Order: sequence, then structure tokens, then C-alpha cells
Amino acid sequence: MRCFILMVFTFSTFWVTGQTAALPAQPKLIVGIVVDQMSYEFLYRYSDVYSDNGFKKLLRDGFSCENTNFNYIPTYTGPGHASIYTGSVPAINGIVSNDWFNENTNSYTYVVDDKDVRIIGADTTGGQMSPKNMLTTTVTDMLQLSNQQQSIVIGIALKDRGAILPAGHTADAAYWYDGRVNAWVTSSYYMDTLPKWVQTINAEKQAQNYMNKYWNLFLPASAYKSSTADSVPWETIYIGEESNEFPHYMLFNGNSESIKATPFGNTMTTSLAQAAIKNENMGKDNITDFLCVSYSSTDYVGHAYGPHSMEVEDTYLRLDRDIASFLTYLETTVGKGNFMVFLTADHGVSPTPQYMQSLNIPAGTTTEGEMVAKMNTILQNKLGEGPWIKAYTNQQIYLNDSLLNKKGLEKKYIFNLMHNDMLKIDGVSYFLLIEDLSGSTLNADVKELVINGIYPKRSGDIQLLYDPYWFEAYRASGTTHGSHFSYDTHVPLLFYGWKIKAGETHRDIGITDIAPTISALLRISEPNGCVGNVITEIIK
Ligand code: ZN
Ligand code: ZN
Repeated sequence: MRCFILMVFTFSTFWVTGQTAALPAQPKLIVGIVVDQMSYEFLYRYSDVYSDNGFKKLLRDGFSCENTNFNYIPTYTGPGHASIYTGSVPAINGIVSNDWFNENTNSYTYVVDDKDVRIIGADTTGGQMSPKNMLTTTVTDMLQLSNQQQSIVIGIALKDRGAILPAGHTADAAYWYDGRVNAWVTSSYYMDTLPKWVQTINAEKQAQNYMNKYWNLFLPASAYKSSTADSVPWETIYIGEESNEFPHYMLFNGNSESIKATPFGNTMTTSLAQAAIKNENMGKDNITDFLCVSYSSTDYVGHAYGPHSMEVEDTYLRLDRDIASFLTYLETTVGKGNFMVFLTADHGVSPTPQYMQSLNIPAGTTTEGEMVAKMNTILQNKLGEGPWIKAYTNQQIYLNDSLLNKKGLEKKYIFNLMHNDMLKIDGVSYFLLIEDLSGSTLNADVKELVINGIYPKRSGDIQLLYDPYWFEAYRASGTTHGSHFSYDTHVPLLFYGWKIKAGETHRDIGITDIAPTISALLRISEPNGCVGNVITEIIK
């Protein structure tokens, strides 16, 4: 019997080897695609308007993890990109939000802030960005560590954090778009001058060429069956526009920042990604290169118009065409079978609360300002003049530790004073003392998401949670993301190309499983803060 099994095994090994002889042992190029704010459902909702060679090709010929979720809060862009590439959670990689309060300096830290570096590619302030606030390695770092930095690793996104965090600490470059100077830029963390090919792209003035024109629907309006009417009161009206309806005029006034909130920002991103492959000779030799692309425009459009808008549908069907042409480009330059693509998102999104209310579905908004006013009133009524709260951000309260110490008051005492009054506020579901989460009645699974999001040196003292479809809005229209609910946590995850076989799984997959799976495919160590597991269905 043993002999028989051995024979079968030997035969099948030979057969598999024979079949895959043409494929390299490791992909020559990995392209990681993060679509900013892509709900899982968008893979299917817009099927009728997608081409055959974009999302549908990835689904048809690739492997889809249909039930992939974020396993922490807040579901924001910075933490999202970090967790995808570190295989870790904010509690370990330290990326607790896009901005957090620093109690030592009494100021806010932006996720990729680095005052020790300067902007490259523009004669202006800002752009002092690097991955130094990310405390763990990425899968891209581990690839570099496996081969003495022989891989070419580049990050590209309109958003700085979408480019910088995925490419890791040892990246060759990260490029992001600065609308103030109408150019792709980087920082002195990576280099001292912008490469010629990036300067050439900047000289093409792609953004300006799209602007001072209308953003029209790509297809006839009747084709947008998955969206509401164009004119609904909960969509944003941009400055310079009279309505929130198509066509949208893209006014250029010397600054192209607003191109980011149109599908053309994604097209510019694709163009730079392809130029990087060509000019940096990515995917040419047998040492795996890694290009990290993040499509930011979907997020800007999504925030402004909501996930049931014609604007979002149009942005996705155009992104589908961009991805189709990008895949064709990879096939012709790197070669079919030589590259692997994975596609996921940094978070999902909530439907627009006003739209939900119009359908009698419970939903609502408040603002950070309103909440701070209410919290201060509660505390001042009970304890007198403060300030008892140092900062409030990311639904977390940072208490005034020095005042508490002076008065000899415990955090728990303050928390108990506030608790019942806070729960009387519309939309507030839980008010949690972070150092004593075990004492709360919160569902164990959600509690784990809260714990995974806390890095004590950067996080606050008290966490607030809202009911579903409730959030703190930063403008009166549109929507946002950040919660522990599935509409914010459930995202697409597709692997395609190289040795990846077509298929799908509906097993629960965590966002932190992506990095260890790529590590396993490359037979390298997983990132140093990794808490995820290999998606074995892909390795088989
Ligand atoms: Zn995002
Ligand atoms: Zn967003």
C-alpha cells in the first residue's frame, strides 16, 4: 500500500512539473492592487457594465477569497494598506489611524509624517513623508531581506499613504500625486532627484489635459441600473458646480487636486504604474520585483457621492477598463505566467445615511464637534471646569492625564461618570474603557476588533462605537467608512496569474492572511509582526 501511494505521488509530481515547466519558480513581478474603498459587492454589482478583461478576467481565471474581512477598527486607509502588507494589525504595526494624537507633543501625527525628510519633485513645503511610523516589516521588506535588496520595489498611489506603506521600509521608491504642483512627487527618504521618466510623465501634464473639461458618463445613462437617480439630495455639490449631476465640470485653476475625485485620477495612476515597469525594468530578470499600486480615486468619489451613485458606478466601470489594459500591458511586457496580481481593498464603505433613511432603514450622522461638546458638558456638570478631555479623534477620547493626576482621579472613575449619559446619545451603541475591555458586555468578536486596533502609546483611553449606518460625518453630504460592521470590513481578495489556479473559497479569510500567503508563495519569511495565516487553497 505504501509503495502504491509513493508511486502515485512520484507520478503526479512528475506530471505537475511537466505541465508547469514553462513557469518560473517565483513570479518575475508581483503587482499588488489595492482599490481604495472597494466593497466586496462591487465585484458583482456592476457585472453588466464591466468588460470581459478586467474584474471579470480576474474572477474567471484567478482565485477569489469571497469572504475576506478586516479584523480590527478603524477601517481607514492608512491602517488598511499597512495591514494588507504587514499581515498585522494596528495593535502591533502601530498604524492605528490616518492621524492620531500624541500626548507627549500635544499634537496630531499624520500616519506617514516624517519631519526628517523633504519633498522631491516639487519646490514647495509638505511632502515630508516616509514609512517610519510603521513599526513592523511588510512582505515587500521581507522580499528585499531575502535577496540582499536585489528586488525592485515601488509604491504608486495618488495618496501618499497608499503608496508609502505598501512599499515598506526598504522600498526603492514611492510616488504620490501633489495637485498643488500638478506632479507626481516622492521624498528624500527614497532619493534626491526624481527619475527622468517621472519628470517626463509630469511634463505630459496629464491632469491638466483632463481638466477644464466635463466628466461625462462613459455609457448611456440607462445602463447604470445599479445606481439611484443622478439627482439625489445626499450627494455632494463641489465648489464651482451648480448641481451634483452629470456632467461634472473639472475646473483647473492652477491646482489639479480635484482630479483625484474623478475616475481620471485612477487612469493617471495606471499610466504611472506602466511607466514604472518599463523604465525600471521590472519583471525582466529572475529576481521577483514588487509593484504596489493603490487606486485612490474610488475613495474620493465614494465619499462625495456614496456607493449607490452613478458617479461610483461610472468610476468602477472605468477602473475596470484601466485594469483590463493594465493586465494586457503586463502580458505583453512581462509575459503571461511570469507575473502575479493580487487585488483587494483597504476598507469598504457605508451607504449614505440619508439614502438609508429615505428607505426607512435606521441610519444617522453626528460630528466630532457635536460629540466633543456633549462630552465636555457631561464632565463639566459633574466635575467642574476642565479641560478633562485632551483630544477626541477616531472615536477615541484621550483624557487629560495631568489634570486627572493632579486631582487624584482614575480613568475608570471618569469613564463611569460619563457612561450612562453617553449611551443616551442617538446612534451611540457602546462606550468602552480601553484598559478594561473585559468588563464590557460587547460581543467577543467585535471586542477582538477593538483590541486589535489599540496600540497604547498612540491610542486613546475610551472608545465609542455607533449603531450600523451611523458615523461622525465631516460634511453634510456623502458617506464614510471606519466601523467594525461588514459593510466596512468585507472586501474583495483575488489572486491571478503565474501559478495561481482558478477557483474560489467562501471560508473566513482575514486581511492579515494576504502577506503570509504571498510569503509562502515566494518561500520567504513572513513579515515580523504577522498574525495572519496562509490561505492554503491558493498554495495547493
Ligand atoms: Zn481608503
Ligand atoms: Zn476614505
